[in-house]
Amino acid sequence: MSIAIDNNSGFCFGVTRAIKAAESELANGPLCCLGDIVHNGQEVERLEKLGLQTIDYDDLRTLPSHSRVLLRAHGEPPSTYWIAQQRNLDIIDATCPVVRKLQERIRACYEQHKNDEAMPPQIVIYGKPGHAEVIGLQGQTNNTAIVIESIDQLDRLDFTRPIYLFSQTTKSVEGFHSLVEAIQSKIKNQKSEIIPEVHDTICRSVANRVKELQDFARANDIVFFVGGTKSSNARVLYKNCVEVNPNTIFISSPDEVENHKSKIINHKSTNPDLKIGICGATSTPLWLMEAVSERLSAF
Ligand code: SF4
Repeated sequence: MSIAIDNNSGFCFGVTRAIKAAESELANGPLCCLGDIVHNGQEVERLEKLGLQTIDYDDLRTLPSHSRVLLRAHGEPPSTYWIAQQRNLDIIDATCPVVRKLQERIRACYEQHKNDEAMPPQIVIYGKPGHAEVIGLQGQTNNTAIVIESIDQLDRLDFTRPIYLFSQTTKSVEGFHSLVEAIQSKIKNQKSEIIPEVHDTICRSVANRVKELQDFARANDIVFFVGGTKSSNARVLYKNCVEVNPNTIFISSPDEVENHKSKIINHKSTNPDLKIGICGATSTPLWLMEAVSERLSAF
């Protein structure tokens, strides 16, 4: 039996950068993080043991002045910066530069078109409603952007008015392309002359992972996908693995490996060269995948 960890899994650049910022700032004294620094409970717990305090928006409004608050890679809407300024908080901004750039593009689009009264614009974000990054993006438009998660929500758009389409950075490229096709077909059906302005703003650090992850999943007999239950990226990537290898198991902690012992034993009885792969999302720390590997090795 062999056990391998996928080299391409683990934190993306933006999350690594935010965690490094938290670790280095913790050396200078108490530090709060607005929301979970990463959608992975185990990593949040590790950083909390080092002193990081996770807070929510209500806490933000009651913190003593000059409290130090880290903004995570997902980014924040302008209202967060405004509250921080009103309350004299010291912000450590770890917004991922890719997300920051996207916020700027959406803001510029909003500013450019917000007064087009004859043809009121529709800024559309392909993303998950309520996701931290999406809240930050909507905030750039004074919360006027329309968030669409799937094609069946397209009836919320008016296809006779201009459409400016952007995407949350972690959505799937295929999903985005299908949405664009569906928008174009609705425009055609309504004999509208609108040409939608399409901005593919999906982060390739995530999008490129799908193929690599699927190659890895195919090459193994059983795959343990390690991810946080709150991570939308983990859910998407897990589904991508299941598509090519139905023997993919979602776990959040090494303790869950035990629940799948009989499956491993069954497979091993018919395949002595059983290959087990361990992979994860952009929010899965390497140390957690290594802990899963150690637990499996103990079998
Ligand atoms: S997925 Fe891409 S955009 Fe999002 S935090 Fe990671 S590097 Fe930044």
